[in-house]
Amino acid sequence: MISGILASPGIAIGKAFLLQNEPIIINKKKITYSNINHEIKKLFQAKKKTITQLKNIKDQTKKQISKKESTIFEGHIMILEDIELEHEIISSIKNHFHTAAYAIKLIFEKQISKIEKIKNEYLKNRAIDIKDISSRLLTNILNIKTINLKKIQNEVILIANDLTPSETAQINFKYIKGFITNLGGETSHTSIMARSLEIPAIVGTGNITEKVKNGDYIILDGIKNRIFINPIQEKINSFQKKKKILSKKKNQLKKFIKLPAITKDNYQFEVSANVSNIQDIINAKKYGATSIGLYRTEFLFMERTELPSEDEQFFAYQKAATIMKNHPIIIRTMDIGGDKEIPYMNFPKEENPFLGWRAIRIGMKKKNILHTQIKAILRASKFGNLKILFPMIISVEEIQTLKEEIKKIKFILKKQKILFDEKIQIGIMIETPASAIIAKHLIQEVDFFSIGTNDLTQYTLAVDRGNKLISHLYNPMSPPILKLIHHVIQVSQNAGKWTGMCGELAGNEIATILLVGMGLNEFSMHPSCIPKIKKVIRSIEFHQAKILAAEILKQNTSNKIMEIIKKNNLSI
Ligand code: PEP
Ligand code: MG
Repeated sequence: MISGILASPGIAIGKAFLLQNEPIIINKKKITYSNINHEIKKLFQAKKKTITQLKNIKDQTKKQISKKESTIFEGHIMILEDIELEHEIISSIKNHFHTAAYAIKLIFEKQISKIEKIKNEYLKNRAIDIKDISSRLLTNILNIKTINLKKIQNEVILIANDLTPSETAQINFKYIKGFITNLGGETSHTSIMARSLEIPAIVGTGNITEKVKNGDYIILDGIKNRIFINPIQEKINSFQKKKKILSKKKNQLKKFIKLPAITKDNYQFEVSANVSNIQDIINAKKYGATSIGLYRTEFLFMERTELPSEDEQFFAYQKAATIMKNHPIIIRTMDIGGDKEIPYMNFPKEENPFLGWRAIRIGMKKKNILHTQIKAILRASKFGNLKILFPMIISVEEIQTLKEEIKKIKFILKKQKILFDEKIQIGIMIETPASAIIAKHLIQEVDFFSIGTNDLTQYTLAVDRGNKLISHLYNPMSPPILKLIHHVIQVSQNAGKWTGMCGELAGNEIATILLVGMGLNEFSMHPSCIPKIKKVIRSIEFHQAKILAAEILKQNTSNKIMEIIKKNNLSI
């Protein structure tokens, strides 16, 4: 059994198509002076051929996938047309008597190693683009035959070292049931594409291409991150069953996408989505989200080498507002730090990054970052229904300071005659025990709460949310967490305010009736969870949920809580 990085969930079963092109072998023998022009001519011809191929791939991608995806190849063409790069290659041929192929290899490798040295996953992935261009150029100059992915006309699981953007552009996705690659991470090109096409994928396996032969039978278990090669028939049968159940469930849930989240006794709840980018927002709408309960803006800061400007942020928030029309979007100010490191921000080395330099703690010290983001959000607020959410709050002073900062920025905007939503709602995440304990004071300062159960559980139980050794202790359904959640909702309700939840618990159907019964107003989750949570809400009565929540809150162990949940058959 092999595993890797789970890039896109689901189950795929089928024969392997191994993508292994002929290796590119380059002769390092020096050329003679008289051959220089010939090599330069070869370079120009290969460049011309590569650009033509890329233009075709770009057009195909636009047709088959999306305009956005096709812009990758515009970037590729631009790199190829870069005059400086061309000069460097020519100078390597002229001055060092390298063949055109060897010169291309050297100059591109220099670029790639420069990028790979930067500790940034996004840029590392961009190195793949440059490798892609250089191997296409080399393949053309050396007349190497490549596997034509267009020829895949049967359903297969594609196995590759790493899929380059130009390779993926040739694929007819109708026939691809899954992807498995040696390389790649969560944000690599293959992963992003697999997720948006909803094709199961496991990347970063290390050496899957050495273990699998063309035509091997594969089970890709993208639920538990496992790959089985030529498994016994019994296993195939059992996974076929699981796959059927999964797709049946998915189909049955489809009808809930368009329906509102209303209990049988007519109480309505907001079921919204957690997103990190525009593609997620589009996906969220597809799954029936009528609002965005958490826009994790830190990803705007992560995929780059410098801080995003005010305009860049403004355009991102404005686009989100336009897509969602007048439906609410809760924009969380950047929650950088913890496990989300930003190389260009030069973070100090910390013993406990989750307890350290993160979220608003950075913004409060580096006011320019905070101001830029708030100004961008306020400017975009004119185009939709935006709300501001601050993460990692632990005190009243913090929110008071943040509100003062907002006031200052509003003043500047007014002076500049820039329109914005003057009544924009301000909320805080309740994700530290401190904020839950002083919720009564904090609610006086804000319009709403959003409970972040992921961090609230980690900090309250003192259990690192990413540590597998102690994952059995990480339980958001344990009595202390449920008591804190209940307390926070009550306090907010008493003050006439509303409470949402954007931690994973909001998308866990086991907890839905309990959270409904506690009076939670908004459930924000991964878009794909939306239909099932709507289904649960539509199958229960608010009054029944309240009685059950009261009973659950009396319990002193997690086991007793789960017993009640099971007895009432609350999972779907
Ligand atoms: C949370 O802590 O529950 C939360 C939603 O924030 P994040 O997962 O981004 O830390
Ligand atoms: Mg959090």
